[in-house]
Amino acid sequence: MATPVITAVGLRKVYGDFEAVRGIDLEVAAGEVFAFLGPNGAGKTTTAEIFEGYRPRTGGEVAVLGQDPASPTRDWRERIGIVLQQCRMRSELTVRETLELYAGYYRAPLGLAETIDHVGLTAKAHARAGSLSGGQLRRLDVGVALIGDPELLFLDEPTTGFDPSARRQFWAVIANLKQLGKSVFLTTHYMDEAQRLADRVAIIADGEIVAEGRPDELGDRERRPASIRFRLERDAGELPEGLQANPGVNGELQITTSSPVEVLHRLTGWALERSLELEGLEVHRPSLEDIYLELTRTAAEDER
Ligand code: ATP
Repeated sequence: MATPVITAVGLRKVYGDFEAVRGIDLEVAAGEVFAFLGPNGAGKTTTAEIFEGYRPRTGGEVAVLGQDPASPTRDWRERIGIVLQQCRMRSELTVRETLELYAGYYRAPLGLAETIDHVGLTAKAHARAGSLSGGQLRRLDVGVALIGDPELLFLDEPTTGFDPSARRQFWAVIANLKQLGKSVFLTTHYMDEAQRLADRVAIIADGEIVAEGRPDELGDRERRPASIRFRLERDAGELPEGLQANPGVNGELQITTSSPVEVLHRLTGWALERSLELEGLEVHRPSLEDIYLELTRTAAEDER
């Protein structure tokens, strides 16, 4: 792995007598988009704010860009960009004026036009922030985080409440950040977002990391059994030898198998010989969402 931009070992955070983050370890490599997934109250914002230098930790070791965020310096702050859950724009300024204002805080800011382009707001450069849609405002927020040319960006649940097209536009902005070579720590509730954008994902539930890896390998997804589903228009007698189907919803039959290609071959051959339709035939592998729900459900049940 390339040099890590974030390392946490045994990170803990206690609020009063409640342990919100329970000894987590994680590493984010330079240039990677790392998605931190978890249900409400899992500890995502707490962890992100500790990394950002805005919340003290109770225990463990943390290094962000080689420094302990518990003692942030101005130089270190300039190397990170933060997009909070809440927007912080002044509505009477235009997009360009807003970015100009923030550029003034940095010694070596990015160009205004370039930044506006990276966040897809060129057509809105002279529009007042107050007139932007929620999705456009969020992109302006990313512009503000990006204007100082940081190495590492934190995006905290950036697309919550977006409609599907605004989410896609925002994803394009995140892809731009990656192309620029930035490292991104993204907290989100959305599996599809993690799957689309992230190089690696960690799932946190009740303050503990319950899975970590590339989106496609998370929870051993690729090696999980597939389920083959279909309906038969009439009673066709026995299925091919060795194939066992269980009844599903709406008269559906379901075969669970680790060898879907072989089973499909036998099943479709059998149906063709009998001139049978396999209505609604589909092969289903657990999605990242299935894995996420399974992992977070297990953690919630353990808790009870
Ligand atoms: P969400 O997705 O809802 O934003 P999250 O994963 O970001 O949730 P956190 O905000 O980190 O979760 O909160 C983790 C737990 O710590 C929650 O149970 C929350 O109620 C608790 N918590 C967070 N901040 C404080 C605080 N300042 N004082 C006491 N408890 C807190």
